[in-house]
Amino acid sequence: MLKIENYIGGKLLEPVSGKYIDNYNPATGEVYSLIPDSDETDVEAAARSAKAAFPVWSKMSAEARHDVLMRVSALIERDLDLLAEAESVDNGKPKTLAKKVDIPRAVSNFKFYATAAMHTATEAHETVGQAINYTLRQPLGVVGCISPWNLPLYLFSWKIAPALAAGCCVVAKPSEITPMTAFLLSKICIEAGMPEGVLNIVHGLGAKAGAAIVQNKDVKAISFTGGTRTGEWIAREAAPKFKKLSLELGGKNPNIIFADCDYEETLATTVLSSFSNQGQICLCGSRIFVERPLYEKFKNDFVERVKKLKVGDPLDETTNIGAVVSKPHMEKILSYIDLAQKEGGTILTGGKQIQVEGRCAGGYFVEPTVIENLAHDCRTNQEEIFGPVVTITPFDAEDEVLSYANSVEYGLSATVWTENLSRAHRMAEKIESGIVWVNTWLLRDLRTPFGGMKNSGVGREGGFEALKFFTEEKNVCIKIDY
Ligand code: NDP
Repeated sequence: MLKIENYIGGKLLEPVSGKYIDNYNPATGEVYSLIPDSDETDVEAAARSAKAAFPVWSKMSAEARHDVLMRVSALIERDLDLLAEAESVDNGKPKTLAKKVDIPRAVSNFKFYATAAMHTATEAHETVGQAINYTLRQPLGVVGCISPWNLPLYLFSWKIAPALAAGCCVVAKPSEITPMTAFLLSKICIEAGMPEGVLNIVHGLGAKAGAAIVQNKDVKAISFTGGTRTGEWIAREAAPKFKKLSLELGGKNPNIIFADCDYEETLATTVLSSFSNQGQICLCGSRIFVERPLYEKFKNDFVERVKKLKVGDPLDETTNIGAVVSKPHMEKILSYIDLAQKEGGTILTGGKQIQVEGRCAGGYFVEPTVIENLAHDCRTNQEEIFGPVVTITPFDAEDEVLSYANSVEYGLSATVWTENLSRAHRMAEKIESGIVWVNTWLLRDLRTPFGGMKNSGVGREGGFEALKFFTEEKNVCIKIDY
Protein backbone atom coordinates (compact mmCIF):
# COMPACT_ATOMS: atom_id res chain seq x y z
CA MET A 1 0.00 0.00 0.00
CA LEU A 2 1.37 3.44 -0.94
CA LYS A 3 2.57 5.39 2.09
CA ILE A 4 2.36 9.16 1.95
CA GLU A 5 5.31 10.86 3.66
CA ASN A 6 5.86 14.16 5.38
CA TYR A 7 8.13 16.69 3.66
CA ILE A 8 10.42 18.18 6.30
CA GLY A 9 13.80 19.85 5.83
CA GLY A 10 13.74 18.98 2.14
CA LYS A 11 13.31 15.24 2.79
CA LEU A 12 10.40 12.80 2.62
CA LEU A 13 10.03 11.31 6.10
CA GLU A 14 7.85 8.87 8.00
CA PRO A 15 6.00 10.29 11.03
CA VAL A 16 8.11 9.98 14.20
CA SER A 17 5.40 7.86 15.85
CA GLY A 18 5.40 5.44 12.90
CA LYS A 19 1.59 5.58 12.91
CA TYR A 20 -0.62 5.93 9.82
CA ILE A 21 -4.25 6.67 9.01
CA ASP A 22 -6.26 5.02 6.20
CA ASN A 23 -6.85 7.09 3.08
CA TYR A 24 -10.13 6.27 1.30
CA ASN A 25 -11.07 6.57 -2.32
CA PRO A 26 -14.62 7.99 -1.91
CA ALA A 27 -15.71 6.69 -5.32
CA THR A 28 -15.08 3.08 -4.30
CA GLY A 29 -15.15 3.22 -0.51
CA GLU A 30 -11.78 1.41 -0.44
CA VAL A 31 -8.57 2.30 1.40
CA TYR A 32 -5.92 2.96 -1.24
CA SER A 33 -3.05 4.62 0.65
CA LEU A 34 -1.81 5.48 4.13
CA ILE A 35 -1.40 8.94 5.63
CA PRO A 36 1.15 9.82 8.33
CA ASP A 37 -0.63 10.34 11.65
CA SER A 38 1.73 13.18 12.55
CA ASP A 39 1.78 14.89 15.92
CA GLU A 40 3.49 17.82 17.61
CA THR A 41 6.92 16.13 17.32
CA ASP A 42 6.71 16.18 13.52
CA VAL A 43 5.34 19.73 13.55
CA GLU A 44 8.18 20.82 15.86
CA ALA A 45 10.74 19.32 13.44
CA ALA A 46 9.02 21.09 10.53
CA ALA A 47 8.98 24.44 12.37
CA ARG A 48 12.70 24.02 13.27
CA SER A 49 13.60 23.39 9.61
CA ALA A 50 11.53 26.37 8.51
CA LYS A 51 13.19 28.58 11.11
CA ALA A 52 16.65 27.45 10.00
CA ALA A 53 15.82 28.12 6.34
CA PHE A 54 14.29 31.57 6.94
CA PRO A 55 17.45 33.78 7.14
CA VAL A 56 18.64 32.68 3.68
CA TRP A 57 15.21 32.47 1.96
CA SER A 58 14.02 35.83 3.26
CA LYS A 59 17.19 37.59 2.11
CA MET A 60 17.26 35.95 -1.29
CA SER A 61 16.56 38.31 -4.18
CA ALA A 62 12.95 38.44 -5.34
CA GLU A 63 14.17 37.18 -8.71
CA ALA A 64 15.74 34.08 -7.15
CA ARG A 65 12.53 33.28 -5.24
CA HIS A 66 10.58 33.90 -8.46
CA ASP A 67 12.74 31.35 -10.30
CA VAL A 68 12.07 28.60 -7.72
CA LEU A 69 8.30 29.23 -7.71
CA MET A 70 8.16 29.32 -11.51
CA ARG A 71 9.92 25.95 -11.67
CA VAL A 72 7.30 24.54 -9.27
CA SER A 73 4.53 25.99 -11.45
CA ALA A 74 6.05 24.48 -14.61
CA LEU A 75 6.36 21.04 -13.04
CA ILE A 76 2.73 21.09 -11.86
CA GLU A 77 1.76 21.95 -15.43
CA ARG A 78 3.93 19.13 -16.78
CA ASP A 79 2.18 16.68 -14.39
CA LEU A 80 -1.33 18.04 -15.07
CA ASP A 81 -2.87 14.71 -16.01
CA LEU A 82 -1.25 12.76 -13.18
CA LEU A 83 -2.22 15.37 -10.59
CA ALA A 84 -5.78 15.64 -11.92
CA GLU A 85 -6.22 11.89 -11.64
CA ALA A 86 -4.72 11.86 -8.13
CA GLU A 87 -7.09 14.67 -7.07
CA SER A 88 -10.06 12.83 -8.52
CA VAL A 89 -9.19 9.54 -6.80
CA ASP A 90 -8.53 11.25 -3.47
CA ASN A 91 -11.54 13.57 -3.46
CA GLY A 92 -14.18 11.92 -5.65
CA LYS A 93 -14.47 14.90 -8.01
CA PRO A 94 -14.69 14.28 -11.76
CA LYS A 95 -11.20 14.09 -13.27
CA THR A 96 -12.39 16.42 -16.06
CA LEU A 97 -13.09 19.10 -13.40
CA ALA A 98 -9.69 18.64 -11.72
CA LYS A 99 -8.05 18.90 -15.14
CA LYS A 100 -9.96 22.02 -16.09
CA VAL A 101 -10.10 23.86 -12.75
CA ASP A 102 -8.11 22.52 -9.78
CA ILE A 103 -4.70 21.78 -11.26
CA PRO A 104 -4.54 24.69 -13.76
CA ARG A 105 -5.40 26.98 -10.87
CA ALA A 106 -2.50 25.56 -8.81
CA VAL A 107 -0.23 26.30 -11.80
CA SER A 108 -1.58 29.88 -11.87
CA ASN A 109 -1.25 30.39 -8.12
CA PHE A 110 2.49 29.71 -8.20
CA LYS A 111 2.97 31.71 -11.41
CA PHE A 112 0.94 34.64 -10.12
CA TYR A 113 2.84 34.97 -6.83
CA ALA A 114 6.24 34.21 -8.41
CA THR A 115 5.79 37.27 -10.61
CA ALA A 116 4.06 39.36 -7.91
CA ALA A 117 7.21 39.02 -5.79
CA MET A 118 9.06 40.93 -8.50
CA HIS A 119 6.57 43.79 -8.59
CA THR A 120 6.00 44.76 -4.98
CA ALA A 121 6.83 48.26 -3.82
CA THR A 122 6.57 50.01 -0.50
CA GLU A 123 5.38 53.51 0.37
CA ALA A 124 7.24 56.65 1.38
CA HIS A 125 5.66 59.57 3.29
CA GLU A 126 7.33 62.92 3.29
CA THR A 127 6.78 65.03 6.42
CA VAL A 128 7.45 68.29 4.62
CA GLY A 129 10.39 70.25 5.96
CA GLN A 130 11.13 67.71 8.73
CA ALA A 131 11.54 64.10 7.73
CA ILE A 132 11.00 61.31 5.30
CA ASN A 133 9.25 58.08 6.33
CA TYR A 134 9.54 54.89 4.40
CA THR A 135 7.84 51.57 4.96
CA LEU A 136 9.73 48.31 5.16
CA ARG A 137 7.67 45.18 4.55
CA GLN A 138 9.50 42.34 6.21
CA PRO A 139 8.50 38.67 5.94
CA LEU A 140 6.97 37.38 9.17
CA GLY A 141 9.19 34.31 9.55
CA VAL A 142 7.67 30.85 9.91
CA VAL A 143 3.98 30.72 9.01
CA GLY A 144 1.32 27.99 9.10
CA CYS A 145 -0.97 27.21 6.14
CA ILE A 146 -3.93 24.89 6.73
CA SER A 147 -6.34 23.99 3.93
CA PRO A 148 -9.54 21.95 3.42
CA TRP A 149 -10.49 18.94 1.28
CA ASN A 150 -12.83 20.44 -1.31
CA LEU A 151 -10.27 22.03 -3.66
CA PRO A 152 -7.14 20.35 -2.30
CA LEU A 153 -4.14 21.50 -4.36
CA TYR A 154 -5.92 24.65 -5.54
CA LEU A 155 -6.41 26.04 -2.02
CA PHE A 156 -3.18 24.61 -0.62
CA SER A 157 -1.15 26.46 -3.27
CA TRP A 158 -3.29 29.61 -2.88
CA LYS A 159 -1.77 29.97 0.61
CA ILE A 160 1.71 28.54 0.16
CA ALA A 161 2.63 30.50 -2.97
CA PRO A 162 2.13 34.02 -1.50
CA ALA A 163 3.79 33.01 1.78
CA LEU A 164 6.89 31.81 -0.05
CA ALA A 165 6.87 34.75 -2.46
CA ALA A 166 6.78 37.14 0.50
CA GLY A 167 9.93 35.49 1.91
CA CYS A 168 8.32 33.42 4.67
CA CYS A 169 9.08 29.77 5.36
CA VAL A 170 6.06 27.51 5.69
CA VAL A 171 4.72 24.64 7.76
CA ALA A 172 1.64 23.46 5.88
CA LYS A 173 -1.03 20.84 6.39
CA PRO A 174 -3.54 19.67 3.79
CA SER A 175 -6.75 18.03 4.95
CA GLU A 176 -6.12 14.45 6.00
CA ILE A 177 -9.14 13.55 3.88
CA THR A 178 -7.33 14.63 0.66
CA PRO A 179 -3.54 14.61 1.18
CA MET A 180 -2.34 13.04 -2.09
CA THR A 181 -1.66 16.07 -4.30
CA ALA A 182 0.12 17.85 -1.43
CA PHE A 183 2.38 14.79 -1.21
CA LEU A 184 2.99 14.92 -4.97
CA LEU A 185 3.71 18.64 -4.61
CA SER A 186 6.47 17.85 -2.10
CA LYS A 187 8.13 15.63 -4.72
CA ILE A 188 7.77 18.43 -7.26
CA CYS A 189 9.41 20.89 -4.84
CA ILE A 190 12.40 18.56 -4.44
CA GLU A 191 12.71 18.27 -8.23
CA ALA A 192 12.36 22.06 -8.59
CA GLY A 193 15.30 22.63 -6.25
CA MET A 194 13.31 24.31 -3.50
CA PRO A 195 15.90 24.97 -0.76
CA GLU A 196 15.59 22.60 2.22
CA GLY A 197 13.19 23.67 4.96
CA VAL A 198 11.59 26.54 3.02
CA LEU A 199 8.36 24.55 2.61
CA ASN A 200 7.45 21.77 5.02
CA ILE A 201 4.32 19.65 4.61
CA VAL A 202 3.03 17.73 7.61
CA HIS A 203 0.18 15.26 7.12
CA GLY A 204 -2.29 14.17 9.75
CA LEU A 205 -5.44 14.93 11.67
CA GLY A 206 -6.62 18.49 12.13
CA ALA A 207 -7.16 18.16 15.84
CA LYS A 208 -3.62 16.80 16.30
CA ALA A 209 -1.20 17.93 13.58
CA GLY A 210 -3.25 21.02 12.65
CA ALA A 211 -3.64 22.11 16.26
CA ALA A 212 0.11 21.63 16.81
CA ILE A 213 0.83 24.08 13.97
CA VAL A 214 -1.54 26.65 15.48
CA GLN A 215 0.06 26.21 18.92
CA ASN A 216 3.72 26.11 17.83
CA LYS A 217 5.60 29.05 19.34
CA ASP A 218 7.70 29.67 16.21
CA VAL A 219 4.69 29.96 13.91
CA LYS A 220 3.93 33.68 13.60
CA ALA A 221 0.78 33.57 11.51
CA ILE A 222 -1.92 31.14 10.45
CA SER A 223 -3.59 31.23 7.07
CA PHE A 224 -6.58 28.89 7.37
CA THR A 225 -9.38 27.83 5.04
CA GLY A 226 -12.04 25.51 6.39
CA GLY A 227 -15.16 25.34 8.50
CA THR A 228 -16.38 28.22 10.69
CA ARG A 229 -16.25 26.14 13.88
CA THR A 230 -12.59 25.19 13.28
CA GLY A 231 -11.83 28.83 12.47
CA GLU A 232 -13.39 29.87 15.78
CA TRP A 233 -11.15 27.41 17.68
CA ILE A 234 -8.06 28.63 15.85
CA ALA A 235 -8.95 32.26 16.60
CA ARG A 236 -9.34 31.46 20.32
CA GLU A 237 -5.97 29.66 20.42
CA ALA A 238 -4.04 32.18 18.36
CA ALA A 239 -5.38 35.44 19.80
CA PRO A 240 -3.63 35.31 23.22
CA LYS A 241 -0.38 34.46 21.43
CA PHE A 242 -0.91 37.50 19.15
CA LYS A 243 -0.48 35.48 15.97
CA LYS A 244 -1.63 37.06 12.75
CA LEU A 245 -4.73 35.34 11.35
CA SER A 246 -6.34 34.98 7.95
CA LEU A 247 -9.53 32.90 8.12
CA GLU A 248 -11.52 31.82 5.06
CA LEU A 249 -14.59 30.02 6.41
CA GLY A 250 -17.99 28.63 5.46
CA GLY A 251 -20.73 30.05 3.27
CA LYS A 252 -24.45 29.84 2.46
CA ASN A 253 -24.49 31.85 -0.69
CA PRO A 254 -27.57 33.37 -2.34
CA ASN A 255 -28.14 33.11 -6.09
CA ILE A 256 -30.64 35.88 -6.91
CA ILE A 257 -32.44 35.69 -10.25
CA PHE A 258 -34.56 38.60 -11.50
CA ALA A 259 -37.17 38.12 -14.22
CA ASP A 260 -35.22 40.34 -16.64
CA CYS A 261 -32.12 38.10 -16.62
CA ASP A 262 -30.47 36.58 -19.67
CA TYR A 263 -32.49 33.39 -19.28
CA GLU A 264 -30.33 30.76 -21.02
CA GLU A 265 -27.10 32.02 -19.46
CA THR A 266 -28.70 32.16 -16.02
CA LEU A 267 -30.13 28.66 -16.30
CA ALA A 268 -26.90 27.05 -17.53
CA THR A 269 -24.70 28.81 -14.98
CA THR A 270 -27.09 28.09 -12.10
CA VAL A 271 -26.74 24.35 -12.77
CA LEU A 272 -22.96 24.80 -12.45
CA SER A 273 -23.06 27.11 -9.43
CA SER A 274 -25.34 24.65 -7.65
CA PHE A 275 -23.65 21.32 -8.37
CA SER A 276 -20.04 21.77 -9.51
CA ASN A 277 -17.72 19.60 -7.43
CA GLN A 278 -20.87 17.97 -5.95
CA GLY A 279 -21.81 21.36 -4.45
CA GLN A 280 -18.64 21.24 -2.36
CA ILE A 281 -17.25 24.63 -3.36
CA CYS A 282 -17.44 27.31 -0.69
CA LEU A 283 -18.70 29.65 -3.47
CA CYS A 284 -21.57 27.44 -4.67
CA GLY A 285 -24.96 29.19 -4.59
CA SER A 286 -26.99 26.92 -2.34
CA ARG A 287 -30.02 29.24 -1.95
CA ILE A 288 -31.69 30.12 -5.25
CA PHE A 289 -34.17 33.01 -5.16
CA VAL A 290 -36.24 33.63 -8.32
CA GLU A 291 -38.48 36.64 -8.99
CA ARG A 292 -42.08 35.42 -9.03
CA PRO A 293 -43.02 36.10 -12.70
CA LEU A 294 -40.17 33.78 -13.75
CA TYR A 295 -40.42 31.32 -10.87
CA GLU A 296 -42.49 28.43 -12.30
CA LYS A 297 -40.76 28.46 -15.69
CA PHE A 298 -37.27 28.65 -14.20
CA LYS A 299 -38.02 25.99 -11.60
CA ASN A 300 -39.31 23.50 -14.19
CA ASP A 301 -36.47 24.09 -16.67
CA PHE A 302 -33.87 23.97 -13.89
CA VAL A 303 -35.18 20.67 -12.51
CA GLU A 304 -35.22 19.20 -16.04
CA ARG A 305 -31.54 20.14 -16.52
CA VAL A 306 -30.57 18.79 -13.09
CA LYS A 307 -32.25 15.45 -13.84
CA LYS A 308 -29.98 15.10 -16.89
CA LEU A 309 -26.74 15.44 -14.88
CA LYS A 310 -24.83 12.18 -14.94
CA VAL A 311 -23.74 10.96 -11.52
CA GLY A 312 -21.04 8.32 -11.68
CA ASP A 313 -17.42 7.20 -11.84
CA PRO A 314 -15.26 10.32 -11.44
CA LEU A 315 -12.71 8.92 -13.90
CA ASP A 316 -15.34 8.60 -16.64
CA GLU A 317 -15.12 11.63 -18.94
CA THR A 318 -18.90 11.80 -19.34
CA THR A 319 -19.54 12.13 -15.59
CA ASN A 320 -20.91 15.47 -14.33
CA ILE A 321 -21.22 14.64 -10.64
CA GLY A 322 -18.71 12.43 -8.83
CA ALA A 323 -18.62 11.07 -5.30
CA VAL A 324 -18.93 13.27 -2.22
CA VAL A 325 -15.75 13.32 -0.20
CA SER A 326 -16.38 10.76 2.55
CA LYS A 327 -18.94 8.50 4.18
CA PRO A 328 -19.47 10.82 7.21
CA HIS A 329 -19.92 13.75 4.83
CA MET A 330 -22.45 11.81 2.74
CA GLU A 331 -24.36 10.99 5.93
CA LYS A 332 -24.33 14.66 6.93
CA ILE A 333 -25.75 15.67 3.52
CA LEU A 334 -28.47 13.01 3.68
CA SER A 335 -29.38 14.10 7.21
CA TYR A 336 -29.95 17.66 5.91
CA ILE A 337 -32.19 16.34 3.13
CA ASP A 338 -34.14 14.54 5.85
CA LEU A 339 -34.29 17.72 7.93
CA ALA A 340 -35.53 19.72 4.93
CA GLN A 341 -38.49 17.33 4.58
CA LYS A 342 -39.26 17.60 8.29
CA GLU A 343 -39.21 21.37 7.89
CA GLY A 344 -41.91 21.08 5.22
CA GLY A 345 -39.72 21.12 2.10
CA THR A 346 -40.77 19.41 -1.13
CA ILE A 347 -38.08 17.53 -3.00
CA LEU A 348 -38.38 18.39 -6.70
CA THR A 349 -35.61 16.06 -7.79
CA GLY A 350 -32.93 13.93 -6.10
CA GLY A 351 -32.93 13.41 -2.36
CA LYS A 352 -31.25 10.03 -2.11
CA GLN A 353 -27.96 8.21 -2.06
CA ILE A 354 -27.13 6.66 -5.43
CA GLN A 355 -25.78 3.18 -5.92
CA VAL A 356 -23.40 3.36 -8.90
CA GLU A 357 -22.78 0.07 -10.64
CA GLY A 358 -19.43 -1.65 -11.22
CA ARG A 359 -16.11 -0.33 -9.87
CA CYS A 360 -17.84 2.39 -7.84
CA ALA A 361 -20.49 0.20 -6.18
CA GLY A 362 -19.12 0.95 -2.70
CA GLY A 363 -18.74 4.72 -3.27
CA TYR A 364 -20.44 7.72 -1.71
CA PHE A 365 -22.77 9.26 -4.27
CA VAL A 366 -25.71 11.59 -3.65
CA GLU A 367 -28.29 12.64 -6.23
CA PRO A 368 -28.26 16.35 -7.10
CA THR A 369 -31.18 17.61 -5.06
CA VAL A 370 -33.53 20.60 -5.46
CA ILE A 371 -35.94 21.51 -2.64
CA GLU A 372 -38.77 24.07 -2.54
CA ASN A 373 -41.40 25.32 -0.08
CA LEU A 374 -38.98 26.19 2.68
CA ALA A 375 -38.98 29.39 4.74
CA HIS A 376 -35.85 31.49 4.30
CA ASP A 377 -35.09 31.24 8.02
CA CYS A 378 -35.42 27.46 8.52
CA ARG A 379 -32.27 25.48 9.38
CA THR A 380 -31.94 24.03 5.87
CA ASN A 381 -31.75 27.59 4.53
CA GLN A 382 -29.47 28.88 7.28
CA GLU A 383 -26.84 26.17 7.82
CA GLU A 384 -24.06 25.15 5.45
CA ILE A 385 -24.74 21.72 3.91
CA PHE A 386 -21.76 21.73 1.52
CA GLY A 387 -23.16 19.10 -0.83
CA PRO A 388 -25.30 18.72 -3.98
CA VAL A 389 -28.37 20.26 -2.37
CA VAL A 390 -30.03 23.59 -3.24
CA THR A 391 -33.27 25.23 -2.21
CA ILE A 392 -35.42 27.35 -4.54
CA THR A 393 -37.70 30.15 -3.30
CA PRO A 394 -39.80 32.83 -5.06
CA PHE A 395 -39.67 36.54 -4.17
CA ASP A 396 -41.62 39.65 -5.17
CA ALA A 397 -39.44 42.65 -4.32
CA GLU A 398 -35.81 43.72 -4.12
CA ASP A 399 -35.93 44.56 -0.41
CA GLU A 400 -37.56 41.25 0.34
CA VAL A 401 -34.88 39.19 -1.42
CA LEU A 402 -32.14 41.30 0.15
CA SER A 403 -33.49 40.47 3.59
CA TYR A 404 -33.50 36.74 2.69
CA ALA A 405 -29.99 36.93 1.26
CA ASN A 406 -28.58 38.71 4.31
CA SER A 407 -30.45 36.67 6.91
CA VAL A 408 -27.70 34.06 7.33
CA GLU A 409 -24.67 34.20 9.62
CA TYR A 410 -22.40 33.82 6.58
CA GLY A 411 -21.27 36.36 3.98
CA LEU A 412 -18.90 34.77 1.49
CA SER A 413 -20.31 35.26 -2.01
CA ALA A 414 -23.49 36.06 -3.91
CA THR A 415 -24.67 36.03 -7.51
CA VAL A 416 -27.20 38.45 -9.02
CA TRP A 417 -28.80 37.90 -12.42
CA THR A 418 -30.38 40.99 -14.01
CA GLU A 419 -30.04 43.10 -17.15
CA ASN A 420 -30.91 46.22 -15.13
CA LEU A 421 -27.60 47.95 -14.44
CA SER A 422 -28.83 50.19 -11.63
CA ARG A 423 -30.44 47.29 -9.85
CA ALA A 424 -27.20 45.28 -10.17
CA HIS A 425 -25.26 48.13 -8.50
CA ARG A 426 -27.91 48.60 -5.78
CA MET A 427 -27.90 44.90 -4.94
CA ALA A 428 -24.10 44.59 -5.04
CA GLU A 429 -23.80 47.45 -2.56
CA LYS A 430 -26.33 46.03 -0.11
CA ILE A 431 -25.58 42.30 -0.14
CA GLU A 432 -23.45 41.31 2.83
CA SER A 433 -20.74 39.21 1.21
CA GLY A 434 -17.08 39.48 0.29
CA ILE A 435 -17.73 38.95 -3.41
CA VAL A 436 -20.80 39.67 -5.56
CA TRP A 437 -20.95 38.24 -9.07
CA VAL A 438 -23.29 39.95 -11.52
CA ASN A 439 -24.41 37.80 -14.47
CA THR A 440 -21.61 35.31 -13.92
CA TRP A 441 -20.23 32.88 -11.34
CA LEU A 442 -16.74 31.79 -10.29
CA LEU A 443 -15.05 34.25 -12.60
CA ARG A 444 -11.88 35.04 -10.68
CA ASP A 445 -9.13 37.57 -11.20
CA LEU A 446 -6.30 36.65 -8.84
CA ARG A 447 -5.49 40.32 -8.23
CA THR A 448 -8.81 40.99 -6.49
CA PRO A 449 -9.34 40.76 -2.71
CA PHE A 450 -10.94 37.46 -1.76
CA GLY A 451 -12.63 36.62 1.53
CA GLY A 452 -15.79 36.66 3.56
CA MET A 453 -17.83 38.94 5.82
CA LYS A 454 -19.58 37.95 9.05
CA ASN A 455 -18.91 34.31 10.01
CA SER A 456 -17.35 33.59 6.62
CA GLY A 457 -14.01 34.87 7.74
CA VAL A 458 -11.50 37.51 8.68
CA GLY A 459 -9.04 39.12 6.29
CA ARG A 460 -8.60 38.91 2.55
CA GLU A 461 -6.46 36.72 0.32
CA GLY A 462 -5.48 37.34 -3.28
CA GLY A 463 -3.33 39.94 -5.01
CA PHE A 464 -1.15 42.09 -2.80
CA GLU A 465 -3.49 41.44 0.15
CA ALA A 466 -1.89 38.03 0.69
CA LEU A 467 1.63 39.39 0.30
CA LYS A 468 0.81 42.06 2.89
CA PHE A 469 -0.59 39.42 5.24
CA PHE A 470 2.66 37.48 5.21
CA THR A 471 4.76 40.59 5.94
CA GLU A 472 5.00 43.03 8.81
CA GLU A 473 5.18 46.74 8.09
CA LYS A 474 7.82 48.83 9.76
CA ASN A 475 7.92 52.59 9.47
CA VAL A 476 11.40 54.13 9.34
CA CYS A 477 11.37 57.86 10.08
CA ILE A 478 14.48 59.86 9.17
CA LYS A 479 14.78 63.42 10.34
CA ILE A 480 16.24 65.73 7.77
CA ASP A 481 18.29 68.77 8.74
CA TYR A 482 17.69 71.40 6.10
P1 NDP B 1 -12.38 21.81 8.51
O1 NDP B 1 -12.49 23.07 9.28
O2 NDP B 1 -12.86 20.56 9.14
O3 NDP B 1 -10.87 21.53 8.13
C1 NDP B 1 -10.05 22.45 7.42
C2 NDP B 1 -8.60 22.13 7.70
O4 NDP B 1 -8.34 22.40 9.09
C3 NDP B 1 -8.23 20.68 7.47
O5 NDP B 1 -6.88 20.60 7.05
C4 NDP B 1 -8.39 20.10 8.86
O6 NDP B 1 -7.65 18.92 9.02
C5 NDP B 1 -7.83 21.23 9.70
N1 NDP B 1 -8.24 21.26 11.09
C6 NDP B 1 -9.32 20.66 11.67
N2 NDP B 1 -9.33 20.91 13.00
C7 NDP B 1 -8.24 21.67 13.27
C8 NDP B 1 -7.70 22.26 14.45
N3 NDP B 1 -8.27 22.11 15.64
N4 NDP B 1 -6.58 22.98 14.35
C9 NDP B 1 -5.98 23.17 13.16
N5 NDP B 1 -6.42 22.62 12.00
C10 NDP B 1 -7.54 21.90 12.06
O7 NDP B 1 -13.07 22.08 7.12
P2 NDP B 1 -13.30 21.06 5.95
O8 NDP B 1 -12.00 20.42 5.56
O9 NDP B 1 -14.45 20.20 6.33
O10 NDP B 1 -13.69 22.01 4.74
C11 NDP B 1 -14.98 22.42 4.47
C12 NDP B 1 -15.21 23.83 4.96
O11 NDP B 1 -14.29 24.71 4.37
C13 NDP B 1 -16.58 24.34 4.58
O12 NDP B 1 -17.15 24.99 5.69
C14 NDP B 1 -16.28 25.34 3.48
O13 NDP B 1 -17.23 26.36 3.35
C15 NDP B 1 -14.97 25.87 3.92
N6 NDP B 1 -14.27 26.49 2.80
C16 NDP B 1 -14.13 27.85 2.77
C17 NDP B 1 -13.51 28.47 1.70
C18 NDP B 1 -13.33 29.95 1.68
O14 NDP B 1 -12.56 30.41 0.83
N7 NDP B 1 -13.96 30.73 2.53
C19 NDP B 1 -13.01 27.69 0.55
C20 NDP B 1 -13.22 26.28 0.71
C21 NDP B 1 -13.83 25.71 1.78
P3 NDP B 1 -8.34 17.49 8.77
O15 NDP B 1 -9.24 17.59 7.61
O16 NDP B 1 -7.18 16.64 8.52
O17 NDP B 1 -9.07 17.18 10.03
